[in-house]
Amino acid sequence: MSARILVVDDVPANVKLLEARLSAEYFDVLTASNGAEALQMCQRAECDIILLDVMMPDMDGFEVCRRLKTNPVTHYIPVIMVTALDSPADRVRGLEAGADDFLTKPVSDVVLIARVRSLTRLKMMTDELRMRALTSLEIGVQAPERDAVADTGRGGRVLLVDDRPSSYERLAPLLAAEHAVDVEPNPAEAVFNAADGNYDLVIVSLDLDNFDGLRLCSQIRSLERTRHVPILAVTDADNNTRLLRGLEIGVNDYLLRPVDRNELLARARTQIRRRRYTDHLRDNVQNSIEMAITDALTSLHNRRYMETHLATLAEQAASRGKPLALMMLDIDFFKAINDTHGHDAGDDVLREFAIRVRRSIRGIDLACRYGGEEFVIVMPETDLHVAGMVAERLRRSIANEPFSVQKGETRIEVTVSIGLSTLEQKGEPIGDVLKRADTALYRAKHDGRNRVVTIAPPNQPSFLPQVAGRGR
Ligand code: GH3
Ligand code: MG
Ligand code: MG
Repeated sequence: MSARILVVDDVPANVKLLEARLSAEYFDVLTASNGAEALQMCQRAECDIILLDVMMPDMDGFEVCRRLKTNPVTHYIPVIMVTALDSPADRVRGLEAGADDFLTKPVSDVVLIARVRSLTRLKMMTDELRMRALTSLEIGVQAPERDAVADTGRGGRVLLVDDRPSSYERLAPLLAAEHAVDVEPNPAEAVFNAADGNYDLVIVSLDLDNFDGLRLCSQIRSLERTRHVPILAVTDADNNTRLLRGLEIGVNDYLLRPVDRNELLARARTQIRRRRYTDHLRDNVQNSIEMAITDALTSLHNRRYMETHLATLAEQAASRGKPLALMMLDIDFFKAINDTHGHDAGDDVLREFAIRVRRSIRGIDLACRYGGEEFVIVMPETDLHVAGMVAERLRRSIANEPFSVQKGETRIEVTVSIGLSTLEQKGEPIGDVLKRADTALYRAKHDGRNRVVTIAPPNQPSFLPQVAGRGR
């Protein structure tokens, strides 16, 4: 992974120094000598991270950062301010402008590389999410950038893990000015609380009396439910080694004691904004995946999803020597339902049909809407005999109870024809199984509908009844 770092500084010697250190760690380095140039390069998406000098003529670093962070095209690029100033007031100014981190000149090598690495990881993750979320943008879901730029980072849920009353009694009220804060003075409980509380930010003291704060951070990082929660570490100024360990294991940011009020609030806001942004991206990805694989009317899987997974299911069955059954279903005289009761009533029938299908099958069975009023159900580890019983039960569950449509005003009798087949024991192209089920369905229609017809694989002794029951 070779991230491209843009170093921006008006003093050529400073640029050279950072360039040399970063290149030695195999980062690609780009340089700019003023803000305008840097903004253009970012607009063209040429870099992954920016190291930005604060004091520059024309446009200072704060202004460059503010512009980057209020532009939807560039706002997600992490910005590290490199500054000779190191008063809390300057740091707060930078954070208000949207900076992700600070390095103070002269820049320590270890801190530089640790910060760049940690922000690179973050950038790679958001890039990946943004790329996947593009699909949902194309189908009209709102661009997460717009919300992110508008988000103030206030009103978050914050968990403060600290076992020293003198410390948490000061920090908690400060945070409470902008967020809902819970204090957990027992670090052993903290992981569980962090997992249950759905927090936007966990602040961990690394100077706990009875627990290793770093261990806690690493537990929070490795637990599925807290993996993405930002961690802000608070530690004493002389604790550099532990701090670096923390950054390596995924602590997102830190504060040194004595904690400055404004810096605490600004760093908390930055982390919370980022958390919301990545959550939003993740939700978009989730939604677009769901939209891509489900049928909107019935919430069953769609045909594309089934076709992608069918081959895998068939291979698994063949390699494990397990049976696999496949049903093809088609509602009888569905066109007449539409013609008599209207298209909306037809839709109601399809929805109710899907509900009854779901009730008749197991969790591992795959049910999909194959086309208009055609459905396919794939049943792993199910032989022809059992599948025949399931199909028959399903046929009865449709025929026995009229469908209620138009908000309960009308009841319609519905029946379904089902074609059933199984995978040949030695394995065969799954398309052949589909074809047999389709032929069986055709026969079921031809023989009078509302019935299950089974066609066994060609080389399987067909001692089973080929045609199962009919009637109610
Ligand atoms: P058969 O028993 O031979 O299957 O007769 P059928 O009327 O069910 O079959 P046909 O294929 O002639 O008609 C299917 C109808 O399903 C035609 C189409 O307008 C309707 N249809 C397809 N998709 C939808 C849908 O999403 N909603 C509604 N309401 N109707 C649909
Ligand atoms: Mg039909
Ligand atoms: Mg049809």
